[in-house]
Parts: sequence; C-alpha cells; structure tokens
Amino acid sequence: MAPNVRWADRHPVLASVRTAITTTSVLAALAWLAKKLIPQPEQDAIWSWLTTKVEYPRGIWVLLFVALIAWALFAAWALVRRYLHRTPAHELYRTDEFFELRWRWQWFHQDAVGAKAFCPECDLELEPRLLGATITGTASQILYECPVGHKQIVFGAPTMQAVAAEIGRHIEREARKSKLLRD
Ligand SMILES: [Zn+2]
Repeated sequence: MAPNVRWADRHPVLASVRTAITTTSVLAALAWLAKKLIPQPEQDAIWSWLTTKVEYPRGIWVLLFVALIAWALFAAWALVRRYLHRTPAHELYRTDEFFELRWRWQWFHQDAVGAKAFCPECDLELEPRLLGATITGTASQILYECPVGHKQIVFGAPTMQAVAAEIGRHIEREARKSKLLRD
C-alpha cells in the first residue's frame, strides 16, 4: 500500500506557491464579480474616490514603504526557513499495513527502525513470540497473535531480529517506490 503523505508535505515550497496563486485567483474572481454586480454609477463613484488626489505628509509614504519592504522580507524569510527546516518526506511515512498487520516505526536517517506490529482490527500492539525455540535461542517461526483472536500471523524466520530487519527493508522499499526516499 502506498504511503499516505500529503502532497503539500512533500513539496512545501510548491505548496506556498500554490497558495499564492489560489489567493490571487480568488481575489481576481471577486473583483470580476464586483464589476458585474455593482451598478455603473456606484462603480464610477468608487473609482473617482479612489483616484482623487490627496496630499499626505511624506512620513506616511515612508512608513507604508518600509512596512511593505518589511512584509516582503518577512514572507521571503518564512519561505526559506520552511524550506531549510522541512521534515524529510520519508519521515512522515511512519505507519502502514502489510503482511496483514499494521506497523508503526521511526526513522534514523534513511533507515526505518523499531517497527512495532499492531492488530489491524483492534489496534492492540502485538508482542512477537518465538515458536520452536531451541537451546541456541533461535526459532524457526515468529508468531504475532492478537489476544482477542483477530489475527494470527506467523513469519518463517530464525530470530525476531531477522523479522525486524525484513520489516525495515520492506518499509524502505515502499518509501523508495513512492519516491519518498531518493536512494
Ligand atoms: Zn485484534
């Protein structure tokens, strides 16, 4: 199953650009609507009010200009910060359902680690059990069983570490398939 990571989280900068374009479009649509709905005399009155020359002290223009520059700088800085401190896309992929179980894990750089199994029905965490444990501590099978009886999944593996490694590889493969991990 494909990881469920929002497009906006994968591309934070593109998402900002999209927001800007959407806002501009909405404002343009509102302006067009206003031109259609407001009668001509009122439009003329508004236009003449807007274009009437009024003298303001120079300080007000300077203040407006400084505020505009400050706002532009702040917006640019916020965009850069968002880009620099963004969470890598693959780190948003922390749960998925495969091998008939729900898994949750963490990322350590490019490695999916500490995967835990949960019952897909009741979301209870399932502790793996060794079946056929031998004196050397190895088993031929690892059992994941929901105590309520929803699921009973057996992995053919010598140790729990082997299952964990297999799960980690599976997660990383899914992340690569979904272009969340680059290499
Ligand atoms: Zn269950």
